[in-house]
Amino acid sequence: MTRGPATTLIHHPYRAPEGWEAVPVPVAKASTVLFKDTADLHKPRPRDGLTYRYGLHGTPTSYTLAARLATLEHAEYCLLVPSGLAAVTLPSLAILRPGDEVLVPDNVYGQNRYLTESWLPQWGVTHRFYDPLTVPELRDNTKLVWLEAAGSITLEFPDLLGTLAACRARGVTTALDNTWGAGLAFNGFEPAPDTHPGLGADIVMQALTKYPSGGADVLMGSVCTRDRALHDRLNHAHEHLGYGLGQNDVEMVLRGLPTMPLRYEAQDRVTRQLASWMAGRPEVAKVFHPALPGSPGHQHWLAVGGKAAACLFSVVFKPTYSARQVDAFVDALQLFGIGYSWAGPMSLAVPYDMSRSRNLPLPFEGRTLVRFAIGLEDAADLRADIEQALQVLA
Ligand SMILES: *Cc1c(COP(=O)(O)O)cnc(C)c1O
Repeated sequence: MTRGPATTLIHHPYRAPEGWEAVPVPVAKASTVLFKDTADLHKPRPRDGLTYRYGLHGTPTSYTLAARLATLEHAEYCLLVPSGLAAVTLPSLAILRPGDEVLVPDNVYGQNRYLTESWLPQWGVTHRFYDPLTVPELRDNTKLVWLEAAGSITLEFPDLLGTLAACRARGVTTALDNTWGAGLAFNGFEPAPDTHPGLGADIVMQALTKYPSGGADVLMGSVCTRDRALHDRLNHAHEHLGYGLGQNDVEMVLRGLPTMPLRYEAQDRVTRQLASWMAGRPEVAKVFHPALPGSPGHQHWLAVGGKAAACLFSVVFKPTYSARQVDAFVDALQLFGIGYSWAGPMSLAVPYDMSRSRNLPLPFEGRTLVRFAIGLEDAADLRADIEQALQVLA
C-alpha cells in the first residue's frame, strides 16, 4: 500500500540512533506522548517525575530542570509553573480552605498582597498582614504563613528563624518566597552553617524569572517541598490548574543555571559597593540593603548565614526632594532601564510611592523611594551614571 506524503512524513520509520550525549539537555516538546500499545496505555502512571503520560505533565526537559532545582533548594520535590506569580498562588490555592487564615508579611511581593486581599476572601479565607521584623501571632485557624526574605521593595529581612520555629511548634504550614536568595544565599529547608538547627520551611518557591533565567527573557516559577503529602496536595492543584510550560523556555532556564552562582556573586559585590556609596551621599536619607548594618532586619540576615545578598537596594531621598525631582533623577540615568523584574543583564531603577502599598507603618519617613536592581554592567560605569544623574537633584 503506498501512502500519501503527509502520512509518510508523520509515520516515518527512521529513528535517530541512541547514544547522543552532549552538555546541554535536549529540548523535548510534546502534547501527545506515544504509548507502545494499549497495555502500556492502561498501566498506572503516578505523577512522580519518572513516567510520561502527556506533555502538560512533564517531558524529559522539564523533569531535568525540576530535579536540578530540587537539588538547588535542598528539596525532595519540585513543581514547575509558568511564572513566579503562579508559584506564589499555587500554595495558597492548594492549601487554604473556607474558614482558614493566612498570614502575609507587610512587605510581601505586591501580587501576593492582591491575591490575599482581593481573591482569597471570595473563598472564605481571611488574612492578616504582619510586621516582617517580628514573629506573628498565630491563631487556631492560622493555616498558612508566608515569608519573604528579603521582602519586596523595602527589603526588610524577616525573623526567619523565629517565625519558622513558632509555626513548626504549632503545626502551621509555612511558604517561603526564596526569589531573592535564589537557593544560594541560604536555603529554606536546611540548616545555615553553625547558627541554628535548621530553617525548616515547608514550601520554598522561586520566581525562576529572576536569577535562574538571568536573561530577562523567561517567565517561570518553581515550588519545592520535602514532604510527600504536601507535595501531593500541591501537585493535585497543579494538575487541575493546567500549568504548562514551553520547553524552549525550560531550556533557557537550564542554560542559565550553571552561571547563576557566578552571576549572583558578581551582582552582589557591585550592589553592595553602590549601596554603601549611596548611603554616604548627602542627598540620601536611607538605604535599604540587608547586608548594611542599620538596614531593617540586618541581624536576621546575619542569623541565617549573613554571607550572600541579591542585586537589589532601595534608596529614600531626603524629604527636601519632591517626587517629581526623584522621577527626574531616574529619567536622567542613562544605563538604568525603567522597568520591573530584576537579576537580568541590564540594571534597572524604579521609583515607588509607597504610601498606598502597605497596611502597617512604613520603615521610613517620606514617600518616594527608588529601587535599584544591579545588572552585569561595569561597576565604575554604573556609579558614574548615578553620580551624573544626582546632578538633577542639585
Ligand atoms: C518577580 C517576583 C515574583 C513573580 O515572578 P514573575 O515571574 O514575574 O511572575 C514573585 N516573588 C518575588 C519576590 C519576585 O521578585
